[in-house]
Amino acid sequence: MSAPQALSLTKTNTGSAGRTKLNRSQLARLRRKVRRISAVLERNLGVPRRKSEKPRPLDMLVATILSQNTNDKNSHRAYTELRRRFPSWESLAEASLSSIRSVIRSGGMANQKSVRIRDILLTVKHWFGRYSLSSLERLTDDEIIDQLISLHGVGVKTAACVLLFSLGRDVFPVDTHVFRVCSRLGLTPGSKAPDDTFFRMRPLVPRGKSHTLHTNMIRFGRRICRSAVPRCGICPLYGDCVYEGKKRAIRNSPSPADHDFMLLDNV
Ligand code: SF4
Repeated sequence: MSAPQALSLTKTNTGSAGRTKLNRSQLARLRRKVRRISAVLERNLGVPRRKSEKPRPLDMLVATILSQNTNDKNSHRAYTELRRRFPSWESLAEASLSSIRSVIRSGGMANQKSVRIRDILLTVKHWFGRYSLSSLERLTDDEIIDQLISLHGVGVKTAACVLLFSLGRDVFPVDTHVFRVCSRLGLTPGSKAPDDTFFRMRPLVPRGKSHTLHTNMIRFGRRICRSAVPRCGICPLYGDCVYEGKKRAIRNSPSPADHDFMLLDNV
């Protein structure tokens, strides 16, 4: 068994958070704002339920790779089919790329994802001597992120999803919806990318609220604060928003159906 190669998160990824340089009162103001926003979203969207049994971290990692650049329904279909055809990770690691590719085609980018998933399985086996990431449980959040982002195709968002949804850690993943909503609400001024927002939001999210706030921000981003046409006219956070285009935004455009389904709550 080879010892996993850990990168240094502190050296590689916290630089942007360090550059934020919030003073105490700015930090306190933003924390109050996040708490208020979290409460408004809970009042409007509820507290999302969590499954009593958490998925295993390697299952979650593979599911998150499948969810990249596609919608949750397609990736869930691909994941279900993958588990049906390859009941053990060992059988998947030994399968041909073409057979993996054909099974996950419904999830999109099958060429790239089949290679990534098989490479990840082989690396995990090399690290730990088995197809399991349960050894991560004894590590800190930052150590786990370091470990996972050293895998090809795994970024900070994917690592944070494993931490939150599988390992039960109080970590707030930032996808494109969360990134957009945080920017428009003025929580992460100057942030140019989801990873930057992830590190800026870390000290702001109220303890124990990561899952609720993450899920509600995604729901809010899909239903109300949509990318191209935000529904500012019915937005419960209008007063907290710093988005320049909010006054011009179209009111009451139709709502897309069934956008609450989340793959990561259904692994
Ligand atoms: S006012 Fe509009 S842009 Fe601002 S948070 Fe609400 S929906 Fe998004």
